[in-house]
Amino acid sequence: MSDPGPSPEAKAKKPSKLTRVRNIGICAHIDAGKTTVSERFLYYAGRIHKIGEVHDGEAQMDWMPQERERGITITAAATTLEWRGHDVHLIDTPGHVDFTIEVERSLRVLDGAVVVFCGVSGVEPQSETVWHQADNFHVPRLAFINKMDRPGADFQAVVDEIRERLAAHPVPVQLPIGAEDQFAGVVDLIRERAIYFSGAEDDPPREDSVPAAMANAVAAAREKLIEAAADFDDNIATAYLEGKPIEAAALVAALRKGTIRCGIVPVLAGSALRNKGVQPLLDAVCDFLPAPTEMPPIQGTDPTSGQPTTRPPEDSAPFCALAFKVAMDEGRKTVFLRIYSGVLRPGDEVQNARTRRNEKVARLFSVHANRRERIERAGAGSIVVAMGLKDAGTGDTIYVPKAPILLGRIDAHEPVIARAIEPKTQAEKEKLDFGLTKLADEDPTFRFGEDPETGQTIIRGMGELHLDIMADRLRREYGVEATVGRPQVVHRETLAGTAEAEARFERQVDDETLFGQARVRVAARPRGSGNVVKLAIVPPEQVPGAPRIPETPRAILEAALEGATEAMRSGPEGYPFEDIEVVVTGIEYRPDASTPAGQRAAVGEALRQASREAGTRLLEPIMKVEVTAPEANVGDVLGDLNARHARIEDVGVRGNQRLVVAKVPLRRMFGYSTDLRSATQGRANYTMQFESFDAWE
Ligand code: GDP
Repeated sequence: MSDPGPSPEAKAKKPSKLTRVRNIGICAHIDAGKTTVSERFLYYAGRIHKIGEVHDGEAQMDWMPQERERGITITAAATTLEWRGHDVHLIDTPGHVDFTIEVERSLRVLDGAVVVFCGVSGVEPQSETVWHQADNFHVPRLAFINKMDRPGADFQAVVDEIRERLAAHPVPVQLPIGAEDQFAGVVDLIRERAIYFSGAEDDPPREDSVPAAMANAVAAAREKLIEAAADFDDNIATAYLEGKPIEAAALVAALRKGTIRCGIVPVLAGSALRNKGVQPLLDAVCDFLPAPTEMPPIQGTDPTSGQPTTRPPEDSAPFCALAFKVAMDEGRKTVFLRIYSGVLRPGDEVQNARTRRNEKVARLFSVHANRRERIERAGAGSIVVAMGLKDAGTGDTIYVPKAPILLGRIDAHEPVIARAIEPKTQAEKEKLDFGLTKLADEDPTFRFGEDPETGQTIIRGMGELHLDIMADRLRREYGVEATVGRPQVVHRETLAGTAEAEARFERQVDDETLFGQARVRVAARPRGSGNVVKLAIVPPEQVPGAPRIPETPRAILEAALEGATEAMRSGPEGYPFEDIEVVVTGIEYRPDASTPAGQRAAVGEALRQASREAGTRLLEPIMKVEVTAPEANVGDVLGDLNARHARIEDVGVRGNQRLVVAKVPLRRMFGYSTDLRSATQGRANYTMQFESFDAWE
């Protein structure tokens, strides 16, 4: 008898591979142990074979050469490890929370996060900032209370801080056994078992019964855990009320549900450095954090209409992905993609939302293992490396040309701060240009160019710190000593009114005439609505009594639009135009003389004349600033913001802190971190993010 194979039902029930994928990041305040936890993850999953201790102070220094030796970069954009039959993609999260936009992008790419806290210092300002951003993006989280071996480590105190300062609902799923130098392991509250770790990296964990001395504490903590689980599963609620035993699997399922809905945060304990508690943390990643298929559809906007649109995490949906990291690898551009929907194959044509141009994916690789493996297909929820996307920059959205979607904001990449940069010696100019080119390739928010008036090299970026870091990288990575000038904000201009103008361009080059003529109307548009360029030429045959003239060829019409787009890059004050409408209302076409170059020049000139007539207004970068401070300091914070001409949008509550939301011109925010620190004795912290270009008093 032949084997009929699995029935169609059984086949249908077989879990798809994607349910065993976890796209996670590890977030932590600096020094809490993110590097150590990542390294132990890779070690226990068999990805690396030797633990290289990361020591205080020189951490980066010690660490980087070792990384290179092993041929693995755990600080790479993404790396994959296998645990209990799951593919865990570990995605790098930026260390600098000052680059709010970077943190946002990485949170968007993650389906879940492990937040590492230090068992001694607990919830620190930076963890607060990242935590609240994760709240905004609905990223499910686990908390790992690390460094339980350190003097002063206090598990319960950190759990309380998570509840109070982060306004979260922490649910310990473990209790530590002992603390400080007596820290020996953890009690698994779900299975009611003790797990001991000897501290030696190769010793497997040893299971035992719960120590008698902890019986009461374990019973109390387990009751809390069951109560939390009951909120997400009625059967557990009933069983609990009837005093019936509850299976571990049912508890895990309910807690998983709660975690994915961001209703609870499971809390675990350990000491990564002492090799304690790492394997159960990996188990928890698989048990409680979501697979890509469990995520809600990704939200974006249609780049053409500006309307909100979504894509479900399914292979059958149209393809879209976010390029979350672009790096140069032996001179070739490698693009790390998070695919949200649909399928991508080598050879596929995709469009970039920023450039609106089509490109072909040449090759695809998985981020698996040490070596890159070429793959022929990647589906929704996966993380892959693509080659051949020459246009792509970090943060770009790509999609199938027939179904455009924009994830995130494009204007968020617009630089708002400029500084002049000069090499110490003229001999270093070439090295400087080389370094700047490389850095700009990696980071789409960093640009450079020449000031046409002074001939100085100008670097532009997202903030003072951003440019400081770039100058520092130039020195360390490219050996260029350069001096940077004072930061200046980058402006835009818009129109004050409406005007129409006409221009004619005629020039004799050799024995050829370059001719063009155009009428252009310009007008202001509402703030934040973007620029629009269009042709509205009344066909001559529709004008009664007009003589029949030859139809204007497509190349001339296109040249007219190009001329307008080019001229909008620099208004009368020399800044790019923002929120204006340009309409080409008439073109005189002469078959014997009109050329695209002549047409471009004529439209440019007509636009310049019209905008001078309409008058322009300067726009400056306006930032959204969020300050968290204790109640007692709110007055100081508001007073200082008012002095900076801020518009206060909201004063709310965040945990036991107050949250002030304001809009402030960037030019008034120089030196804010120092001023805020001294005004509040270091008790307040803030994030700042570009909001829009606008006119401000
Ligand atoms: P990161 O800045 O968050 O990446 O933190 P690291 O992983 O570099 O750790 C910072 C410092 O804390 C290093 O000196 C580590 O050796 C130390 N460390 C990390 N985990 C533990 C731990 O569990 N116990 C103790 N005592 N020290 C730890």
